[in-house]
Amino acid sequence: MIVFDLVCRSGGHVFEGWFASSEAFAEQKRTGLLCCPTCGDHDIQKAVMAPNVGAKGNQVQEVVATASAAGSQVEAPATEDAVAMQNVPEINQKMQDMIGALAKAQSQMLEKSTWVGSDFARRARDIHYGEVEQELIHGETSEEEAQDLIDEGISVAPLPLPVVPPEAKN
Ligand SMILES: [Zn+2]
Repeated sequence: MIVFDLVCRSGGHVFEGWFASSEAFAEQKRTGLLCCPTCGDHDIQKAVMAPNVGAKGNQVQEVVATASAAGSQVEAPATEDAVAMQNVPEINQKMQDMIGALAKAQSQMLEKSTWVGSDFARRARDIHYGEVEQELIHGETSEEEAQDLIDEGISVAPLPLPVVPPEAKN
């Protein structure tokens, strides 16, 4: 036996059909024996379905879609962005969840890192050139300075979220 996911053309209803072989499917389709159990339509085709698209798979796709939508929103002007998010509360919630997860990951990473503030570029160079002991640091630097560091072969990366400097917390 062979199982196909089938879809009726008029209603788009998806259902499973069991056949002795793919020739049997073609024969039944040709002779009009196939019909949609939901609406009785005889115009039946094999549904184009990705393998393993279960509830979980759908969720993952949804998250990816939201992530890419969020990415494009970042480039939009801030005011427009805020309005768009207010209009879609469930996306707003998802964005907050995502940012929350990101913030958690970032703070876990930064637990082992020392805040060096605006001293970042100098400290990064000192560490890179072995003037001080190796350690993980984070701090502030200009885009230009960061590019210079990268050009010198020093591994720096922008943090996904802004960090509140420890001195500003109190
Ligand atoms: Zn149908």
